Amino acid sequence: MKKILLIYAPFCTPASPPFSLTSMFSFLKANYEGEIGVLDLNLEFHKLKFPKYGSFFQDKTAWADYEKISSDYFKESSEVYSKSNLSVVGEINPELFDDLIKQIYDSKPDVVAFSLVYSSQAFYVLSLLKALKGKIKTVIGGPAINEKLSLVADKTLNDEVELLEFISEKNVDKDKLNFDYTTDFKVHNLKEYFTPEIVIPIKTSNSCYYKQCVFCNHHQSSKYVEYPLDLIKKNIEFSKQKYFFLIDDMISVSRLLEFADLVKDLNIRWACQLRPTKDYTNEVLSKLSKAGLKMVIWGVESGNQRILDLIKKGTNVTDVKRVLKDSHDNKIKNVTYIMFGFPSETTEEFLDTINFLKEQTEYVDLVSTSIFGLQSNTIIYNESSRFGINNITTVERTVLEPKITYESTSGLTKKEAIKMRDNYKKTIDKINKYPKGMNYFREHMLVFSNKD
Ligand code: SF4
Repeated sequence: MKKILLIYAPFCTPASPPFSLTSMFSFLKANYEGEIGVLDLNLEFHKLKFPKYGSFFQDKTAWADYEKISSDYFKESSEVYSKSNLSVVGEINPELFDDLIKQIYDSKPDVVAFSLVYSSQAFYVLSLLKALKGKIKTVIGGPAINEKLSLVADKTLNDEVELLEFISEKNVDKDKLNFDYTTDFKVHNLKEYFTPEIVIPIKTSNSCYYKQCVFCNHHQSSKYVEYPLDLIKKNIEFSKQKYFFLIDDMISVSRLLEFADLVKDLNIRWACQLRPTKDYTNEVLSKLSKAGLKMVIWGVESGNQRILDLIKKGTNVTDVKRVLKDSHDNKIKNVTYIMFGFPSETTEEFLDTINFLKEQTEYVDLVSTSIFGLQSNTIIYNESSRFGINNITTVERTVLEPKITYESTSGLTKKEAIKMRDNYKKTIDKINKYPKGMNYFREHMLVFSNKD
């Protein structure tokens, strides 16, 4: 039987054990007789490079210095990541490469499988794939894989069943597979993650049931699947932890209420991301809050109705305001995702969002902003002329998928949107009750959600 080593590569925030890798490990443990190893090289990198920050972020009393230290950390880590990635582009190994690849060789695997969740992991994975070529068989999978990585890896796989078939070198009878297993996060050294309390990621569904936001490329082609909630409850109990992050792209109100009902007596604290639709009534939010919901990342996107309709968010500014207030009144912390610079957004419409945020100051705990970027496999990309987008160009990149640029027939340019966001930085900062660094370390905000 082959020994397989599952790897999560740098760089992403080392705040919680990776869901994808742990879920893959647990599936194989239930269905494969060979040896299975797990290596979170992203955590290993951060432990080696930023040990002092690791100790700080693990300190439950670190709140007072959080803003300053987290800002230093993000500045330093961003520099390290971009220098390392540039090295990979220049065909030089990234930082700490020898230390990390040694950990792979030390575990003597026959097959190494990389799980890529973020495109920021592609650089390090490419270097590792190249170094392992011809020595150990490599496999890649996950939402952030791309053609460049597939050309170097020995195999690109779509799911855990394909991985099982690859390592067992035979077809498996899917009806005989065991899917009734618990996701075992204890395979990781949980106390080493950069958080004051262990936060476990859980996923109750795959893909998004809504799938209509025109800018979104999350699983447009993958089927929406809901996982059995009793199994999720079993996983929560089995973990023996207190903090949970629901990493679903989106959850419907009815499903969330079912989940809340199931966990209400477990005395856990949890967070999730949602669309602020009118069905989040005060009654619903009260039930969710009583079941331990402490924080929601709301996909607000804009405070202007024309933009929301264009995006096809399915929300209404008046409802969004009411949802934020009711959520706040039910002691749930509100993070608002805002996207500036959607094609055709005017200066006035940009300012509508700023005014919306100012008006909602009392109910918003943290603002998370982004600037619109055109991505392939989205409705807006496929129907670009309907959105006044033309001159789409793609520029090849060494490691990542091609970069897409475009022109919009009306509204702010991307540069203008960035400049306006910079101009309103102080206004947005004033709204935040939580340190901005928590936009990257959302797990910390959940842990500190009772700070008032
Ligand atoms: S932005 Fe969220 S709600 Fe909209 S389609 Fe994407 S995952 Fe679904």
